[in-house]
Amino acid sequence: MRIFDPHIHMTSRTTDDYEAMYEAGVRALVEPAFWLGQPRTSPDSFYDYFDALLGWEPYRAAQYGIAHHCTIALNPKEANDPRCTPVLDELPRYLAKDGVVAVGEIGYDAMTPAEDTALAAQLQLAAEHGLPALVHTPHRDKLTGLRRTIDVVRESALPPGRVLLDHLNETTVETALDSGCWLGFSVYPDTKMDEDRMVAILTTYGTDRMLVNSAADWGKSDPLKTRRVGEAMLAAGFSAADVDQVLWRNPVAFYGLSGRLRLNAPVPAALHEGNSVLRGGE
Ligand SMILES: [Zn+2]
Repeated sequence: MRIFDPHIHMTSRTTDDYEAMYEAGVRALVEPAFWLGQPRTSPDSFYDYFDALLGWEPYRAAQYGIAHHCTIALNPKEANDPRCTPVLDELPRYLAKDGVVAVGEIGYDAMTPAEDTALAAQLQLAAEHGLPALVHTPHRDKLTGLRRTIDVVRESALPPGRVLLDHLNETTVETALDSGCWLGFSVYPDTKMDEDRMVAILTTYGTDRMLVNSAADWGKSDPLKTRRVGEAMLAAGFSAADVDQVLWRNPVAFYGLSGRLRLNAPVPAALHEGNSVLRGGE
């Protein structure tokens, strides 16, 4: 089973995770820029983070045979903090870089006017840079948030076929399908989707435009949830080709819209800026 995890925050994960992911079949992933839990107090800490997503993290992934890509954006939550919004002006410099395969994650957290501004501005940036967009949907008021998100997408210069709506569930899947966007589902250990609910959705709505991710991060999460979904699909009677479509070909098609996917992990470099995962450089 070959797996492309289209949404996982490896910055928060260990080398054991990389090893287990490779063993489970993960060969490529996308790491979206997101909120780190601790509020950032200046734009500069975003730039160091973005540089890590483009340098250190792909280096780490390559040590374990996994191709790493990222998406860059000012995340919805921190779009509300005026100390952070100057990041919007610096994004074009990052969106020009080869490892960046989309603008994201953008979208709504609390659905504030500041989030409206940041979402519209970043959809525009995606259109200008020829990139697709990864759009997070809010965890509270899900359907209202999704409808408002789709309205903003429709008013933007970015066609729905270049937008991935993420963190969907049973309450939002039909509205998302009707929008013409791609659909993302985050499968978590306790909350949001689990693998059986995911299989039920795929059984009802089919496998086209459907992406499954672990969204593993610093919270309770599991980087092998993609594999678990593949196994649950097979157990429910889906074919190996169906599993391959959901876990590999769909994410490749969506992020391939950037023209920047490199699906073979690069030959691992010995060092990144003089440092290695072995610390001593040995
Ligand atoms: Zn995320």
